[in-house]
Amino acid sequence: MESWELIIIGAGAAGLAAGIYGARSGLKTLVIDEKLAGGTTADAPVVENYPGFPQISGGELAQNMVLHCRKVGVAIREIEAVTALALTGDKKIVKTTRATYEANAIIIATGSHYSEIGVKGEKEFRGRGVSYCGVCDGPFFKDKQVLVIGGGNSAATTTLYLSGIAAEVIVTHRRDAFRAEEALVKEIASKENVQIFWNTEVREIKGDKLVTKVVLHDNKVGTTKEIAVNAVFVQIGEAPNSQIARDAGLEVNEHGYIKTDFFQRTSMAGVYAAGDVTNHPVKQVGTAVGQGITAALEAYGYIRRPYYRK
Ligand code: NAP
Repeated sequence: MESWELIIIGAGAAGLAAGIYGARSGLKTLVIDEKLAGGTTADAPVVENYPGFPQISGGELAQNMVLHCRKVGVAIREIEAVTALALTGDKKIVKTTRATYEANAIIIATGSHYSEIGVKGEKEFRGRGVSYCGVCDGPFFKDKQVLVIGGGNSAATTTLYLSGIAAEVIVTHRRDAFRAEEALVKEIASKENVQIFWNTEVREIKGDKLVTKVVLHDNKVGTTKEIAVNAVFVQIGEAPNSQIARDAGLEVNEHGYIKTDFFQRTSMAGVYAAGDVTNHPVKQVGTAVGQGITAALEAYGYIRRPYYRK
């Protein structure tokens, strides 16, 4: 069994920030991710609110964090899924699809995943016109007709990104007002190729090999109609990737987010959580980074018991 001092599960902004601080504190640090490193930061078309970077693509920002981690000596294992955790003993056991590891402390930074709308055709056409990531799939729909579902910041930023690629972007929102930030709402209003359908729900996604149309329901008037679209971008929020943590007995809140205190401590000694998987009220790259840093420094204190912790 491989031994590490600190194992971080999840290589998004929180996990990578934790990795940098863990390794720089001198801890033998491993980061494991079931996908490629970068997390959901890498999916963001453009990030305009990470201090020091007025405008940077999420992919570039995430890649910088990965390179930074490697430079300070963090081991990163990608495409390796954690299948089980045993967290109650002094040594924490991490089982993955490739190996079993032990560590003195664990940081869970598994993030969250996109919520699904749950209508007919969504699963069937996923990857064939149904997408959850504008930056990943938007360029496939150059000069086409695309539809965005949602009214939050994700829907707004995706709409703005797609408006620069697609011929027309239709936004459907189930209410009559966005909840997105005012600056984004104003920018959307200035785009001539964006059309908004308020009080509108997507009832079905139809197509042949690829998406060709959607069935829309006006929930105020009660009417239903079909419109032609080439793609549907579902942007209705997210849910935590906390199943393995829950299975290991960690306490979560009513929505499944891992409960942490100000020090990123969870309900079990030596186990910390950071980023979008936690019950922290703000879910931003900056806050994920801050939580990751706190978790790593607390883990360092727990493992090494420096003079100021004795
Ligand atoms: P969100 O703020 O929770 O918004 C989700 C939107 O989807 C809401 O408008 C909601 O409608 C709608 N919705 C939810 N379930 C639905 C369903 N079943 N059918 C139809 N519509 C549904 O989620 P988000 O936009 O993904 O943002 C998540 C977090 O990331 C937020 O904290 C956000 O600020 C942050 N974020 C920030 C940026 C940025 O550039 N600053 C970019 C992306 C995300 P209602 O309004 O009716 O509830």
